[in-house]
Amino acid sequence: MPLLVVGSVALDSIFTPFGETADALGGSAVYFSVAASLLAPVKVVGVIGSDYPVHELDQLAKRGIDWTGVERAEGESFRWKGKYSYDLQSRETLETRLGVFASFRPKLPPGWDQSRYIFLGNIDPELQLDVLRQIHRPDLVVCDTMNYWIQGKRLELLKLLERVDILLVNDTEARELSSLWNIHKAGRWILKHGPKRVVIKQGEHGAIMMDAERTFYVPAFPLEDVFDPTGAGDAFAGGFMGYLARVDSTAPEQMRRAMVYGATMGSFAVEAFGVRGFESIDPTAVERRVQAFVDLTHVPVAEPLR
Ligand code: AMP
Repeated sequence: MPLLVVGSVALDSIFTPFGETADALGGSAVYFSVAASLLAPVKVVGVIGSDYPVHELDQLAKRGIDWTGVERAEGESFRWKGKYSYDLQSRETLETRLGVFASFRPKLPPGWDQSRYIFLGNIDPELQLDVLRQIHRPDLVVCDTMNYWIQGKRLELLKLLERVDILLVNDTEARELSSLWNIHKAGRWILKHGPKRVVIKQGEHGAIMMDAERTFYVPAFPLEDVFDPTGAGDAFAGGFMGYLARVDSTAPEQMRRAMVYGATMGSFAVEAFGVRGFESIDPTAVERRVQAFVDLTHVPVAEPLR
């Protein structure tokens, strides 16, 4: 089953203790697509400026990513500049330049309104809503956001939340959105504002999925070398949604498996700079790491104490 994603198609400049990049391929839709396309075909909606290295996107198209919904507009592409702390635990946004995204009005190519699995990647909530309004009858709508939009477009974001099935954010974003420090309370707050489920990613501490009755947890893969956390959240979302689209199901047990595929893709994203980490990943590597998660979390049933 194909997936539809709207999000930023960006040029990123990133500083980490291990090196830096300037104007490298990035953006929420790009990280999401490289991960998700290992599991299901992906259709991207977005915009790029006249300065975007289109040939680099074409390289990625070979993996089953359809870029025909990415408009080419006159002007500068979306640019984001970020710097990580020495331990990679926090990051500071140095600059966000919306460029052609500031005046973008998404228009889906013919037939794309029938898409059933929708990911509203991190971008202006008004654009996320705009895309959602054009979809005929989706089976699953998952949405991401960022502090930039939580602070700048809060009302629009709350309106969007009423219409999505799952909000997928990181712990800082969940805290900022709810103004609650405890992650479980923050999740509960989000569930009261529309989504039936919430997924909260906690970096090297794993990720939780909550609904009204239950909480599920998946750890992060124990990596010894981490180079660049950029895009880990979007890659997680790509694994999560890619798996659900592949099995064409939103059943609760499939959601739990999807969390493992999410954690798997997130771990690939942080192992290298930029989207490069995914170049060498094939379905066998994905399955091997998913299997490693099964071992990592397997608890042999104990004898009862009496
Ligand atoms: P993540 O590390 O998963 O939060 O994703 C980082 C990606 O999000 C980078 O490739 C950026 O280009 C993109 N990004 C950063 N800020 C924004 C924003 N305000 N809106 C949309 N995308 C953004």
